[in-house]
Amino acid sequence: MSQPSLRVKIYGSRGSYSPTNGNPTSIGVNTTCFRVDIGNNILVIDAGSGIINCGQDIVKQMFAERSEESVWKTHLFFTHMHIDHLVGFPYYAMLYMPKSHIHFVAPTILDYKLENVLKNFMHPPYFPVSMDDLPFKRDFHDIAENLAVYFFEDSFQIRSTLENQPDGWIGKITTMRTYMHPKGGAYFYRIENREGNAVVIASDTEGFVGGDQRLIKFAENADVLMHDAQYAPEDYGKSQGFGHSTYEMACDIAKRANVQKLLLIHHDPTYSDEKLRDIERRARELFPETQLAHELMEFVF
Ligand SMILES: [Zn+2]
Ligand SMILES: [Zn+2]
Repeated sequence: MSQPSLRVKIYGSRGSYSPTNGNPTSIGVNTTCFRVDIGNNILVIDAGSGIINCGQDIVKQMFAERSEESVWKTHLFFTHMHIDHLVGFPYYAMLYMPKSHIHFVAPTILDYKLENVLKNFMHPPYFPVSMDDLPFKRDFHDIAENLAVYFFEDSFQIRSTLENQPDGWIGKITTMRTYMHPKGGAYFYRIENREGNAVVIASDTEGFVGGDQRLIKFAENADVLMHDAQYAPEDYGKSQGFGHSTYEMACDIAKRANVQKLLLIHHDPTYSDEKLRDIERRARELFPETQLAHELMEFVF
């Protein structure tokens, strides 16, 4: 059987911070991290605490499948630089592997360049090891709304969305900036394979009446939309303006964008499994194909 061309695995779907009340949870405790495989290309989106398990899995797989002389090439994307999307970064196993070559892909937000943010974050006194002292190879790439990253069997290209699509691509990523998240916004990602399957990650955004028209267009006809749904509507009032949505807002976008399936993400860390299951039940009344994203959930196309 041939390999699936697009594979997604969720390593963290909590928002803000990992729950600290000690109750066991079937949803998972780690903050956002999504692994996407396009053919042999490995992409990781966000370095919340979920990236720790994700990195360990990637390293195990590299040792098992790659030859002695191979370079362990992966791509790391960021939605934005808030701590819940960054906290696992210093513990990401691929930083400690001499054969690892990481292509960092992220937009500049609020004039903060990704390389500087990471260097300042992973540096004494916050962390005993500096990023500069680590052996992995690295390249930094800017991305913006007018650029797409195209993936081929064993390479990638960043080019303008206005140019013709290159021959031989097997998958691509485009991005959209939301301004509905303090203070510099966040970036959504749409990942597609050549066959036309699409997965959209829209984390860290607050909805509004009538829905975000740009996001509706961006997510149009996607197979899966992962949308911020941090709050139940009864808890939203005190958190209005924090840059997160209710499940009602997520369902509204899913419906208007005509997606196949909605996954709720960025779960509030104070919510129990019971509360989250209740949110899922209520969301299904609005958009039947809704599910809570949970750790180690996987889907393939
Ligand atoms: Zn967040
Ligand atoms: Zn945020």
